[in-house]
Amino acid sequence: MKPQTIVVKIGTSSLTNPQTGYLALSTIAALVEALCGLRRQGHDVVLVSSGAVGIGCARLGIKERPRTIAMKQAVAAVGQGRLMRVYDDFFTSLNQPIAQVLITRSDLVQRSRYVNAYRTFRQLLKLGVVPIVNENDTLAVEELKFGDNDTLSAQVASLVEADWLFLLTDVDRLYSADPRYDPTAQPINLVDDIDKLTALNVDVGDRGTSWGTGGMVTKIAAARIATVAGVRTVITEGRSPQNIEKALMGEPIGTQFAPEVEPQNARKRWIAHGLLPAGKLYLDSGAVAAIRDAGKSLLAAGIKEVEGEFQSRDAVQICDQHGNEIARGIVNYNSTELQQIRGHHSEAIPQILGYEGEATVVHRDNLVLV
Ligand code: GLU
Repeated sequence: MKPQTIVVKIGTSSLTNPQTGYLALSTIAALVEALCGLRRQGHDVVLVSSGAVGIGCARLGIKERPRTIAMKQAVAAVGQGRLMRVYDDFFTSLNQPIAQVLITRSDLVQRSRYVNAYRTFRQLLKLGVVPIVNENDTLAVEELKFGDNDTLSAQVASLVEADWLFLLTDVDRLYSADPRYDPTAQPINLVDDIDKLTALNVDVGDRGTSWGTGGMVTKIAAARIATVAGVRTVITEGRSPQNIEKALMGEPIGTQFAPEVEPQNARKRWIAHGLLPAGKLYLDSGAVAAIRDAGKSLLAAGIKEVEGEFQSRDAVQICDQHGNEIARGIVNYNSTELQQIRGHHSEAIPQILGYEGEATVVHRDNLVLV
């Protein structure tokens, strides 16, 4: 097998014992062994690990997940160090160097910083290191957070152009209903179209545990981000990390989400997931069809309403008239200009603004359907 780039995400509920809050040492040891096994076979491995907040609480004897932001941030600073120390002990026993990479959402906003993060990961992998990633919980501003490590891991998988993303959790795969209550629940082994999952009415009601922030909903959202980027995504049990290798060998482990055959290119992925939108444009139905179905650029004539204050070159959400986002893109005009030219034909723009503007409001090359 050609060497693969593999991102593995493990959550707090797998890493700690839910009763005591202490580390689940045997799970961590099995995970580390499995990842080192993958490294020995020549694969590149990135681990996205939660646990900073949970372990910080255990260290400080705090019995409940902190509610205030300042408390969460302080506790994460305590836990992150502990977490890395434990990983370093385990990985070092198997002679595997690791690195700590703490990311915040804002690190990916600027294209240059996004590319820089890509280069750092690539260099670490080239050095044979296993980067261990978490959100920089101590310094991330609440509004600028990934929020959960499922999303973070999908973004990392997209950033490093991974072949696989494994979302390790406490169930072995998705079922058509909750198997604990419904004996007719069917396992779902392969999802080739995520939209069909919603049609199947899959029970994704699980909102995560009291310590983790994810749940099936965020895992499916993560699978969507990753598969669009061309990453095959697997939801499976964290207690059996040796399943990762079995999945690589083609065994039907967990629920697997097939990657898009034609993944978005890196720049479009950055527009879709790196940039933070600064405003919203509401379009009429003609413009929605032109953008969604006919692959056209966005012109001023199709814009009904402009929301927010933004500069030209900022990212905006492009929505239908009910506010449902259909695309995201980089605008060529600021919000004041757009307020003046919305609804007007392109030929009228020089007269309205008093200067020659761009022909398009969002050029197709700077637009991604969502
Ligand atoms: N970054 C958080 C932590 O380390 C976890 C986020 C999540 O649970 O997804 O505690």
